[in-house]
Amino acid sequence: MTSPPIVQTGAPGLRSRAKEVAPEQIQTKEMQDLVTTMIATMRAAPGVGLAAPQIGVPLRVIVLEDREDLLKGLTAEERRERERAAFPTRVFFNPVLKPVGEDRAMFFEGCLSVKGFVGLVERSAEVEVSGLDENGAPQTWRVRGWPARILQHEVDHLDGTLYIDRMKTRSFATAEHAKALYGGKPIAEIRRMLDL
Ligand code: ZN
Repeated sequence: MTSPPIVQTGAPGLRSRAKEVAPEQIQTKEMQDLVTTMIATMRAAPGVGLAAPQIGVPLRVIVLEDREDLLKGLTAEERRERERAAFPTRVFFNPVLKPVGEDRAMFFEGCLSVKGFVGLVERSAEVEVSGLDENGAPQTWRVRGWPARILQHEVDHLDGTLYIDRMKTRSFATAEHAKALYGGKPIAEIRRMLDL
């Protein structure tokens, strides 16, 4: 299957509120095909999450996963700081997110719709997300660390928000510069370097 192109920043569709999916629509071929396409597109990119508006579909659907092969470039310490580990694919229709507790975490984040750049974004360290799964069944997931970050990033897409709206603008960098300057460094050191 050829993946659809990923919509890039500037496109109005990334700045609009996506619409709820009627629960009875979830098991239609159209919605099942959408989920299949989204997962394939996320993997081909490759990325750890995708929201339907990123492939031009204005609906409240997100997919996310993290895989060992995407973690290879991180040191053990970077994985620990980010609370990042592989997890199986999750699909949410109509996700509703709430932060859990007061803990915040700041790390570099990128977006398949802002290709080639990254920026430091502070987000809730832990969230609880509720919605419907790919079969239309209700599901709730309480999670910390990197999956919590991915969820906040993807649900933002459904409301027309991009990470660049939330980032520390001084940190905005090409992925190449960020890797060369900050790769392997603890977040405290990165923040000192950027005076953040
Ligand atoms: Zn994104």
